[in-house]
Amino acid sequence: MSKLTPMEWSKQVIKQDEIDRYLINGKDFIDEKEIMSKIENNKNPDKGFIRNIMDKALSIQTLSPDETAALINVKDEELWEELYEVGNKIKKKVYDNRIVFFAPLYCSNLCVNSCKYCGFRKDNPQEKRRILSMEEIKKETEAIIDEGHKRLIVVYGEHPLSDVDYIADSIKAVYSVKKKSPNSNRVGNIRRVNVNAAPMNISDLKKLKEVGIGTFQVFQETYDRNLYANLHPSGPKADYRWRLYALHRAMEAGIDDFAIGALFGLNDWRFEAMGLLYHAIDLERQFGIGPHTISFPRLNLASGSPLSKNSNCKVSDADYKKLVTILRLSVPYTGLIITAREKAELRDDVVKVGCTQMDASSKIGIGAYSQKSNNQEEEKQQFMLGDTRSLDEVVQRLALNGTITSFCTAGYRCGRTGEKIMDMLKECHEGKFCKLNAVLTYKEYLDDYASPKTREIGEKVIKKEIEDIRNNPFYKEKGLIKLLDDYYNRIADGERDLFI
Ligand code: SAM
Ligand code: SF4
Repeated sequence: MSKLTPMEWSKQVIKQDEIDRYLINGKDFIDEKEIMSKIENNKNPDKGFIRNIMDKALSIQTLSPDETAALINVKDEELWEELYEVGNKIKKKVYDNRIVFFAPLYCSNLCVNSCKYCGFRKDNPQEKRRILSMEEIKKETEAIIDEGHKRLIVVYGEHPLSDVDYIADSIKAVYSVKKKSPNSNRVGNIRRVNVNAAPMNISDLKKLKEVGIGTFQVFQETYDRNLYANLHPSGPKADYRWRLYALHRAMEAGIDDFAIGALFGLNDWRFEAMGLLYHAIDLERQFGIGPHTISFPRLNLASGSPLSKNSNCKVSDADYKKLVTILRLSVPYTGLIITAREKAELRDDVVKVGCTQMDASSKIGIGAYSQKSNNQEEEKQQFMLGDTRSLDEVVQRLALNGTITSFCTAGYRCGRTGEKIMDMLKECHEGKFCKLNAVLTYKEYLDDYASPKTREIGEKVIKKEIEDIRNNPFYKEKGLIKLLDDYYNRIADGERDLFI
């Protein structure tokens, strides 16, 4: 833990040379004028051009800024129906028919920054401040394991008390927890810990790599630097470029699964969609790989934040679905995360245009999982959630639509990360392994945690998935069917954590 005061600590966060090394001719990769002119110059796109873009996206190639700008300008609702279908096809091609689940674990709401949209900001007197001890983190983890989760994302404000050493200790604390399942007495644990925290320097990021971080996630919030300056008046977060290159530094520290995002509702959503694309392109250009996932949270009500109530850039549900589809086509290999900030009905709909990850049974109050209460307390959390369904409810809902839930964490434990996973995603091979691991982890979930009804519906989904696998020549050629049968039977007999 740092001995510096929050003020002293904040002053030493930014290392200018860890920004400057990524600039090209002194410039970063966001040129607001260029983005605006691309959007303007691609007004009224030709249908033929849009269909060519669909073909390019279906061949799993990142779109150019002009192509994404053209999609942004599509007005014809019939063409949108086609685009939604293409989004779904791309998702199936790259990731198959599955949704990966995770839960967020908020460890601290102490923060030295003053983001105008967030309940955690330092000058919000309504927020009740709390930082979890390692014992409390273990208790929270137990409650999350009890729901059936296998991966979580730990989340922190930016503060010397929750510096990199605290974050590393909390990751170790999460991994250390083993808990017997209520249904079957089998031992459950968290197998992948992702991190959403403030941007760090390379040496701190290496500490997270050492303790087994999954993905490192930082949202730019807005790519418009004037708006950014207005929304982030003080603290290390006021430095736009420190944040812009947070994931370039992660890559350099050896964390090759990194995730980008923007907070929608602060600015025109079209501009931010372009910003995300430019971000992905720069990472591809500088490191040969793009983001593991993209997130597109919408601004929700937050305690003591008038902006969260009154923003005039809120994104409508209809535009939100278009935005997700545009991201699906623009960066076809990437995972797309839709969080429980959104209402249940919207999530159930938007998930169909290409999302790959969701959270469920989420609680974002500090210490809220172990309190077992379902009430949301505005002054103890960052913002209010829209979907408070349990994991069992969401899994059941997806199963009714024939979608399999995956708790797979094999990719990163088998070294399928960074460049390796990018190549497999682009060649549409990763999804095929995912399908096998989805079946195995779904079976574990149904046996250990699901309600009797979810189990009954889920078993039918498994049966269909296994049939698909048996009929697919890829699995026959690679000799994987025998392996799947063997692992599946062993899991049914009670062995756990077998993956391909
Ligand atoms: N403090 C770190 C940071 O700002 O990067 C870590 C995480 S912050 C707790 C997680 C994310 O929540 C932010 O990056 C922001 O996009 C999002 N967020 C903040 N206020 C929000 C609100 N009112 N509604 C929805 N999402 C919000
Ligand atoms: Fe702090 Fe992050 Fe909230 Fe900003 S968004 S106030 S940095 S917790």
